[in-house]
Amino acid sequence: MTWRASILTLYPAMFPGPLGHSLAGRALAAGAWALDAHDMRAFATDRHRSVDDTPFGGGPGMVLRPDIVDAALDAVDDGRPLICLTPRGAPLTQATIRALAAGPGLVALCGRFEGIDQRVIDARAMREISIGDYVLSGGEPAALVLLDACVRLLPGVMHSHESGREESFTLPLLEYPHYTRPAVWQGRAVPDVLMSGHHADIAAWRRHQAEALTRQRRPDLWHAYRQLPEAATRLIEPRSEGPSP
Ligand code: SAH
Repeated sequence: MTWRASILTLYPAMFPGPLGHSLAGRALAAGAWALDAHDMRAFATDRHRSVDDTPFGGGPGMVLRPDIVDAALDAVDDGRPLICLTPRGAPLTQATIRALAAGPGLVALCGRFEGIDQRVIDARAMREISIGDYVLSGGEPAALVLLDACVRLLPGVMHSHESGREESFTLPLLEYPHYTRPAVWQGRAVPDVLMSGHHADIAAWRRHQAEALTRQRRPDLWHAYRQLPEAATRLIEPRSEGPSP
């Protein structure tokens, strides 16, 4: 069965958006995955087609009504994971992405305004996910981020040599830096070792770079890496795609 994403939003025209291009777009056109975006306003019942109301307890902004969101969920809920995008959610990791990509697809609920009435999130046991510690104006860009990361892992989406690297043995390391031609650019030369043709030296240099960068920029990942048994850290090449602390 085709991996399918259903999006609940007030702005269905934002989809597929960037995912209609490049790798994800070609895979979508080829039927390697499917996407449907639903306008929650279609589930409004009053003549003003209102989907939000003022927050109980006061405060600024508007809150998406639980009855509207519930009706929209009814239209798409078929057992796929139900995801609510919210800055209060669990931080999104590559491990979560891998698990979602391995399943049947997902339903993503995009908030707007101040957010969504908590009762419908609880009643549906939705999984609350955040894409980072900052506040967006809506859940749509967050859903696009989530989908982009899932889709590139689907079978047949990446070229085999790339997807072959996408194994579950992923080290909590940032990736080493990349260089391409010209060998000297604006007086800056590519590191000598990369021109040497010595594969073992290159691998050692890359590993060293990855470790130094991780220690400097991401103490959390570095700590997780240091906990691993020595043998596990020698198994594969470091890369940036997979740090899952
Ligand atoms: N009042 C909320 C912010 C609402 S932002 C608060 O302070 O927590 C409006 C919508 O944007 C949210 O309902 C959510 O769907 C989306 N959103 C904002 N930041 C996000 C993030 N970091 N990750 C995922 N979704 C986010």
